[in-house]
Amino acid sequence: MSPTTEDTTERESSEATEHESALETAKRQLHSAAKHVDVDENVVERLKHPKKVHEVTVPIERDDGSVDVFTGYRAQHDSVRGPHKGGLRYHPEVTRDECVGLGMWMTWKCAVMDIPFGGAKGGIAVNPKELSEDETERLTRRFAEELRDAIGPNKDIPAPDMGTSPQTMAWLMDAYSMQEGETTPGVVTGKPPVVGGSEGRDEAPGRSVAIVAREAADYYDMPLSETSVAIQGYGSVGANAARLLDEWGANVVAVSDVNGGIYDPNGLDTSSIPSHHEEPEAVLSHPAPEKVSNDELLELDADVLIPAAIGNVITAENAEDVQADVIVEGANGPTTSTADEILEERGIPVVPDILANAGGVTVSYFEWLQDINRRAWSLDRVHRELESEMVEAWETVCDRREEHDVSWRDAAYIVALTRVAEAHDSRGLWP
Ligand code: GLU
Repeated sequence: MSPTTEDTTERESSEATEHESALETAKRQLHSAAKHVDVDENVVERLKHPKKVHEVTVPIERDDGSVDVFTGYRAQHDSVRGPHKGGLRYHPEVTRDECVGLGMWMTWKCAVMDIPFGGAKGGIAVNPKELSEDETERLTRRFAEELRDAIGPNKDIPAPDMGTSPQTMAWLMDAYSMQEGETTPGVVTGKPPVVGGSEGRDEAPGRSVAIVAREAADYYDMPLSETSVAIQGYGSVGANAARLLDEWGANVVAVSDVNGGIYDPNGLDTSSIPSHHEEPEAVLSHPAPEKVSNDELLELDADVLIPAAIGNVITAENAEDVQADVIVEGANGPTTSTADEILEERGIPVVPDILANAGGVTVSYFEWLQDINRRAWSLDRVHRELESEMVEAWETVCDRREEHDVSWRDAAYIVALTRVAEAHDSRGLWP
């Protein structure tokens, strides 16, 4: 399997610490933002529920000839603004509710970026590390077949997420295309460029995190050259964000992967540290003055903290100990609702995932446009358009934040919810 999975490290803990699932967090966040917007409460109620959730059985033949049966999901949250969009994850803790919560975040992510997609998320409850490449291929093709009626370039467009990769998307696209009788690259995004994937898609979530961190530093009058950054997670998102921020002059003082982290108050040369996927042992074997655990990294005295690994890492237990001046969420849902409240009281701004890591789905949209038009963009064009989309979204969220005097998360939700609710209003409820 390709080593470039979308997400960073293996999940060390469940996304349900503090007994809060992704779905509960997502609902709480919606509720909090809805208080500030003049939207029909019936629409808000409707948005608390997914439009449809597909649950499928995915049997596969193992290499030894035995058969194993897995469960897969595709939660389609909302499609009022366009086809459903969102990743597929392969992870043992994938559940129906997790997919619904993450699918809801995709609805807001697409709306905050003003791209014409709704939200979805899916996955299979499986440990991909226990599958051979052939088994992963069979699993993916069978999953594609089970979901064939649910997905499509104008219906629902999957992408990579935790435990899946461009190769997974190529198999999905092939299985779908073979059955439809026509090559349909627009059915998935995050494919290898040779089969219609976009240049720059792999690094896009990390690039958007870096752009948003740069804008946040500027907003809080922190010149990048005097700003230190600690990044938890050194996979695709964390490593790309780290390298870009480093290149733009910031001082990246700490990075970590699932095995632990390294800290150098004078700054790390991130270009010389391979990402977790490029070389799984690279972070810890890199010479640095100090080793830190993943928990310690969150409490380091750095100006900007970027949790870019897994969900629910900033919790009621450690939110009081965070020393950063600004948090930029690289992972989906790294901050629990209670931690959010504590950080708000402490005056530590949290720039939310639905804005910060939205570069992934934004370049997915560019990829879909390229597939539909059968014309590839240059990497330079992808970078330019991503930069301009991110800055525009940042400025819109900034304006809402100042207008309503709310947190960054509420402001991003206000932007997204207003767009989604207006679309529901204008389309109406039928039948
Ligand atoms: N899995 C990514 C996310 O959580 C990207 C989804 C997509 O590109 O559709 O944003």
